[in-house]
Amino acid sequence: MAGAEIVANVLSFEDARRAVEHQAVLVQPPETEIVALDDAAERVLAEPVLADRDLPPFPRSTRDGYAVRSADLRNLPALLEVIGEVRAGEKPDKIPASIGVGQALSIMTGAPVPAGADAVVMVEYTLQRGRQVEVTRGAETGENIVARAAEASHGAVLAERGSRLTEASIALAASVGKSKLAVYRRPKVAVLTTGDEIVEVDADPGPTQIRNSNGHSLAVQIRRAGGDPVPFPIAPDELIGLRRSIEQGLASDLLLMTGGVSMGRYDLVEQVLAELHTEFFFTGAKIQPGRPVVFGRGTSYARAEQKPSTYFFGLPGNPVSTMVTFELFARPMLEALAGMSPRKLVFLYAKLKSEIHVKPGLRRFLPATMSGEFENSEVALVPWQGSGDVAATARANCYVVIPLDRERISAGEFVPVMMR
Ligand code: AMP
Ligand code: MG
Repeated sequence: MAGAEIVANVLSFEDARRAVEHQAVLVQPPETEIVALDDAAERVLAEPVLADRDLPPFPRSTRDGYAVRSADLRNLPALLEVIGEVRAGEKPDKIPASIGVGQALSIMTGAPVPAGADAVVMVEYTLQRGRQVEVTRGAETGENIVARAAEASHGAVLAERGSRLTEASIALAASVGKSKLAVYRRPKVAVLTTGDEIVEVDADPGPTQIRNSNGHSLAVQIRRAGGDPVPFPIAPDELIGLRRSIEQGLASDLLLMTGGVSMGRYDLVEQVLAELHTEFFFTGAKIQPGRPVVFGRGTSYARAEQKPSTYFFGLPGNPVSTMVTFELFARPMLEALAGMSPRKLVFLYAKLKSEIHVKPGLRRFLPATMSGEFENSEVALVPWQGSGDVAATARANCYVVIPLDRERISAGEFVPVMMR
């Protein structure tokens, strides 16, 4: 055994998060692939989406009513001559070239406003009798009209490379004729579950054995963050087997390990990583749950010529610790490997329902439920048995974030919340 030394480096939550963000901006985006528009949802754009023409391509009426010259409405009610009607999608040769003084054009929502008109009066403020319309309200220049190119000019970048495709960006791509999109390939994330007591879901656990839940919660979080989980066989708490698995895991785009990073005699993950001459950015963060979380970078000797270096996280094995440390630290790295532009971790605020007492010194992320309706969101901790309590966490829909200097937080205070 090389007996490699591990230098403990426990950071504050903020410094640990920054250490990840600092590395995340250094990674190169993956290769690209072309997918059909409707298969691109949740993927990461590998090309900018450009406006293929002005948006809107013509001055668009946003109301059903009458296109008018606003100057004609100085004295009310005004009587105007109706010179025709335009519907949405009207053939261009059916649209009057312009409307003159004292004239109005019946117009529908989404129809082009002809030259000369500078406002649309809503039908509610009009009364048409034959070829005349009486208008009872004035209008300001531009009212109820979206000018040509007001939303975007031909050639403008509408969605940036590196953005995640939401329903809104899919709508945008559709509106500029992109039936196919270039997206980044999903990075492969090795999921290495460790622990002598851990058995697979379909095994019959012995009296002291525990079914593997972390491998499955991680797969969900990895997919959500844009990755492709690759489950490894459960590794034992034993140096040689663990080393073989970690070396293989380092051949992936990212390696996530769970368990074996605490202070126990059989917590061997860090020792094996050190023997593989990996680099550690931190070996712990002042948080709860998840204090023993490890972040570093290493090389798989087997595939050194292909992949010089792979980032890894050693996530503590308690199920809630695994979930929380993934969200806080592994997610931004995975998003970067998936080609996503970096984004900050944001917390929402909600009113605390009942008082919280904790020991100061750690930033805590405690499973909680957000409830209440409309503007009256309230949040309350879920009673739990600590970070092994999957049942409590499954009842939660968020985490209350407790600053490290707080001992007591009263009911009614607004507290930061991290959504699931
Ligand atoms: P460790 O981080 O290895 O000290 O494990 C901490 C606790 O989490 C222990 O009670 C383990 O049994 C439990 N644990 C570790 N890995 C898993 C897993 N994959 N699924 C469920 N529980 C786990
Ligand atoms: Mg263990």
